[in-house]
Amino acid sequence: MKVNEYVRAASLEEAYSLKKSSPKNKILGGGLWLKKGNGDVDKLIDLSRLGLDQIKEEKDYVSVGALVTQRAFETSPIIKKIGGGVLSDAVHQIMGPAFRNSATIGGSVYGKYGFSDVITALLGFKVDLVFYPEEVISLDEYVKKPGFADGILTEVRIYKSSAKSFFKKVKMTALDYPILNVCVTKDKDYRIVVGSRPLVACLCEGAMKYLNEGGKDVDQAVELAMQELKLGDSMSAKGEYRSHLARVYLKRALEEVK
Ligand SMILES: Cc1cc2nc3c(=O)[nH]c(=O)nc-3n(C[C@H](O)[C@H](O)[C@H](O)COP(=O)(O)OP(=O)(O)OC[C@H]3O[C@@H](n4cnc5c(N)ncnc54)[C@H](O)[C@@H]3O)c2cc1C
Repeated sequence: MKVNEYVRAASLEEAYSLKKSSPKNKILGGGLWLKKGNGDVDKLIDLSRLGLDQIKEEKDYVSVGALVTQRAFETSPIIKKIGGGVLSDAVHQIMGPAFRNSATIGGSVYGKYGFSDVITALLGFKVDLVFYPEEVISLDEYVKKPGFADGILTEVRIYKSSAKSFFKKVKMTALDYPILNVCVTKDKDYRIVVGSRPLVACLCEGAMKYLNEGGKDVDQAVELAMQELKLGDSMSAKGEYRSHLARVYLKRALEEVK
């Protein structure tokens, strides 16, 4: 990747107007994914002066600034309180600490990577994304929408929850991308998420409806999830193997959180 100019934005307004002015101008998170790309960047827009690196506890939700690093997220006592610490646990499994000290939560969510452990774990909870200048959209909707948001992601709001939670990342080696990841949480309602399909994570709405309307049979819930899940092939695994993994870990997850 070649960068023509590095700009440290003095305001969100300036960052947004630069982003809008050319598709070759890019917002910088930790830069780890950007660096892997081949495309040239005209202006690389740094948000580090804008105070977006804070984790704050509000009344109903936890506010995570887009520039919070994965490491700060994973080690935050506020984040560890959500769902028994499942979010910390999920992020802890990405690469090593040096990597997580640079990669940001904003870059991880904005990019909607199919393999994302961050998105799979966050989808286990009610989460809103706040974009500058004015959009607030749930993570559930954001992952379903084609393409990427036009604005700048400033904040990820995770609604407080003491849900019983399960997260599993299946990978070939310790530092690898996931072949499949699964997150299941049960607060008042169940949320069942499968990611790295290899498409971006999705909620298993039919299985959730069955359980949330009083269904008790775990095998039936797994069957419903398997019917609605689209699992495909990638370099690392065949869809058939992903189906086998999903069946096993969904059952294990549902038995653990019930
Ligand atoms: C070698 C490698 C291995 C990885 N393994 C895993 C893994 O196993 N599991 C996993 O979950 N993830 C994995 N990842 C992804 C990683 O965890 C991050 O999600 C990824 O690097 C993006 O975060 P970043 O801060 O580096 O974003 P950047 O690279 O800085 O940005 C990514 C994209 O988001 C845009 N962007 C960034 N911040 C904002 C913002 N605030 N508003 C609008 N747009 C924004 C950028 O313009 C860019 O298009 C891996 C990445 C790499 C490079």
